[in-house]
Amino acid sequence: MLSAHTPDVMKPSSSAAPDVIRSFSPTTGDELGSVPVMTAAQVAATVARARVAQEKWAQVSIVDRASQLLRFRNVLVDRVEEVVAILGKEVGKVRHEALSHEILVIADVCTFLAKRAERILAPQKISLHLLRHRRSFVDYEPRGVVGIIGPWNFPFKIPVRDAMAALVAGNAVVLKPSELAPLVMLKAKELWEASGGDPDLFQVVTGFAPTGRALISADINYLIFTGGVETGRRVAAACGEALIPCVLELGGKAPLIACADADVERTARAIVWGGFANLGQVCTSVERVYAHASIHDSLLARTVELANELKQGNPVTEVVELGSIVLPPLMDVADKHIADALSKGAKLCTGGKRISGPGNHYEPTVLSNCDHSMTVMTQEIFGPVVPFMSVTSDEEAIRLANDSHLGLNAYVFSKDTAHGHRVAKKVQAGAVIVNDVLINGGCPDSPFGGIKKSGFGRVNGEDSLRQMCTAKHIMTDRLVVASEPFWFPYTDKTYGLLRSGLAALFSGKGLIGKIAGWFL
Ligand code: NAD
Repeated sequence: MLSAHTPDVMKPSSSAAPDVIRSFSPTTGDELGSVPVMTAAQVAATVARARVAQEKWAQVSIVDRASQLLRFRNVLVDRVEEVVAILGKEVGKVRHEALSHEILVIADVCTFLAKRAERILAPQKISLHLLRHRRSFVDYEPRGVVGIIGPWNFPFKIPVRDAMAALVAGNAVVLKPSELAPLVMLKAKELWEASGGDPDLFQVVTGFAPTGRALISADINYLIFTGGVETGRRVAAACGEALIPCVLELGGKAPLIACADADVERTARAIVWGGFANLGQVCTSVERVYAHASIHDSLLARTVELANELKQGNPVTEVVELGSIVLPPLMDVADKHIADALSKGAKLCTGGKRISGPGNHYEPTVLSNCDHSMTVMTQEIFGPVVPFMSVTSDEEAIRLANDSHLGLNAYVFSKDTAHGHRVAKKVQAGAVIVNDVLINGGCPDSPFGGIKKSGFGRVNGEDSLRQMCTAKHIMTDRLVVASEPFWFPYTDKTYGLLRSGLAALFSGKGLIGKIAGWFL
């Protein structure tokens, strides 16, 4: 048996594969419970059960599926404290963030999907521009079984958000939670069942990477993966081998551009919240600040002041802003980036080290005088470290923001919203938020996802809901004739007719060509 909070369990050797995951609190070290490490055969059997349940679920109307989502939401709201407690214990999440970043978002996701799914997934009629003698329709049919592999930093919101979209679209889901937070996902399943949901539609398979690999190979129809870039590469390769379409939600290195006219107080508060919420363990955390030289010093000073006011501790027993680092090696990663930056001329403005005592705590850290020779500006840290760099123009800030292999979120601060919007258009990212941070992670109606090595595909938004389905094209005829111009036999005469048709319709010349240009 191995603990999920010790580093070596991230890579269990096949010769000594554990059969149980023991879950420990990263704050107190207390053991919270254990779950089985499921074998490939167990995963395959789970997917098979999900498939049987899905066939019935696909026959249920979207309105009735939506009602089940609302029942789940209502149970979640009634039993909110159970989820807050387990998030606090298992991943050291502070109460306010458990409530607002995880539970409130899911309550909203369920409500949004319940209201909008019927319209978004309604069959669409297509007016064919050339083949006007035929009619086309697109039906959105459920894919079948959707696999969801989740991370530990938002262990409730991320997998449940994707599960709700998959379910309302008529799929079954099999979720593989992170080995660092399996109990949270089992709580989600308990709530699903308490709300009257079919247990086989919402299944959880627990384990390490091999269980995730087994899920991909278990004949699922779609995969939504959220995790690190390197794991994402392996997952994409496995999906390629199994020919399963997938969405990859990977890492980020969100830049924050503070323009010369940024509101210093709001920007400083946004940096502190965006950089230190969840102790920086957020894929969209503010991970680098490019501040215009004219406001750099005042913004830095205020950021440091606010960072120093934050209280860190046990989120289960105290009201604190900062909880725990879930994965201890992440503190070594932060140490390494900070040491590299300091050795190259960065200045430590506050923080910079782990806090001794029980639990995995790390001081909120602000560095200045940073540049792109330092790993702190170029690699994902996933911890409470915010490096500052002074720039002399928007153009310089944009160039530096775009100098990254990642492109998930980015932020622009300017009192002039139109100016902020113009800068946002030039920043390479899946989403650019003007005068706010992190907030889009909670919007069920807007697409979320990355470019570059931050992944591909989207969650949230109308398109991603349709992506939970196969778009089935049905074409019918308006009038029945004995033959078609494209059919056999092929003769010189039919070739000539096609040539004349091509010239008439697509040359843009002559009366027919001009009329055709209006219609095609
Ligand atoms: P991770 O990549 O270590 O693990 C993610 C999940 O993948 C876990 O459930 C793990 O068991 C599973 N897994 C590992 N190897 C696998 C394999 N070969 N096949 C199938 N499954 C496998 O990531 P993590 O440490 O849990 O999460 C942190 C990372 O996730 C950070 O890089 C963060 O930026 C990213 N993240 C991205 C988003 C987003 O929406 N883009 C959101 C949250 C976290």
